[in-house]
Amino acid sequence: MSERKQTTDDRNENSQRTTGEYDGLRNGRSGHETGTEGRREREGGDGRARATGDALVEINELRKIYDPDGAHVTAVEDLDLDIGDNEFVTVLGPSGCGKSTLMECIAGYLEPTEGEVLVNGDPVAGPDPSRGVVFQSNRLFPWKTIGQNARFGPQMRNAVDDDRIQQLLDDTGLTGFEDSYPHELSGGMQQRAELVRLLANDPDIMLMDEPFSGLDAMTKELMQEMLLDIWEEEDRTVLFITHDVAEAIFLADRVVVMTARPGQIKDVIDVDIGRPRDSSVLTSEAFNEYQERASDLIHDEAERAMEQKQQETQEA
Ligand code: ADP
Repeated sequence: MSERKQTTDDRNENSQRTTGEYDGLRNGRSGHETGTEGRREREGGDGRARATGDALVEINELRKIYDPDGAHVTAVEDLDLDIGDNEFVTVLGPSGCGKSTLMECIAGYLEPTEGEVLVNGDPVAGPDPSRGVVFQSNRLFPWKTIGQNARFGPQMRNAVDDDRIQQLLDDTGLTGFEDSYPHELSGGMQQRAELVRLLANDPDIMLMDEPFSGLDAMTKELMQEMLLDIWEEEDRTVLFITHDVAEAIFLADRVVVMTARPGQIKDVIDVDIGRPRDSSVLTSEAFNEYQERASDLIHDEAERAMEQKQQETQEA
């Protein structure tokens, strides 16, 4: 047993949060098989969800405090989470609960105040192309064409693969728009171009912060289906942040539900809906049940978050 595995297992022996309400939290998964088979492999004889050596991302007792002018805002507190290789995890929580903070700690944009984020067992020491990030507003260079944007990251690493980029443009329906500039495309097409830019860098981990929340409902649904198609094809690990309950369930292997600030994990929902998934899933009984459960979990937290916001506005 490696030193890292021992440490993690020891931690689990001592942690209430890996059992009961957090069951499944440290429950990685390989490949895209659904149902309980892959998960059972990772459970000990006592039925506990154990941390495994193959968790790609390990977040241990993460705390992040912002301290602008002594304001001391605890955004995330005592957060433990493992994300398995090739797993699709969504993080669902009310506005201001620390979702972006969590993601930015994994991306390496923010340093934890306490705790640690490990990727492949190594502490995150800053941004890295192996962890690609997509935000709600795209980060395309407006003065570059879609093709030039897609090539930019690989060019920086002397690793341009034209066939790969062409394939990504095909997969996202952007063939023929290589020479267009971002402002010439619709919002949905810009987010598809953003996805091409991300995937052209060949990241192991895709960190997506509400990437579709600015899109209309129909475009959003199509983008979700497209993302799942690509993910099924490419075997990547995804952490996807959203405050949209249906989106969180439709996409995920596991939905991590967060509390209002300070953001902690309230519960984790294993979504045992088969794959590949398309929009027909949205009207299934199982989907409705998951949706009710997630909505119940999030309801009180959304109220608390709203009260916090009102209080802050009054104090300002
Ligand atoms: P979410 O993504 O869930 O909306 P965030 O992670 O963006 O939440 O923010 C969590 C809390 O931390 C919020 O109250 C927010 O106002 C606060 N916050 C975020 N970034 C900063 C910052 N740079 N300085 C001070 N407070 C911040």
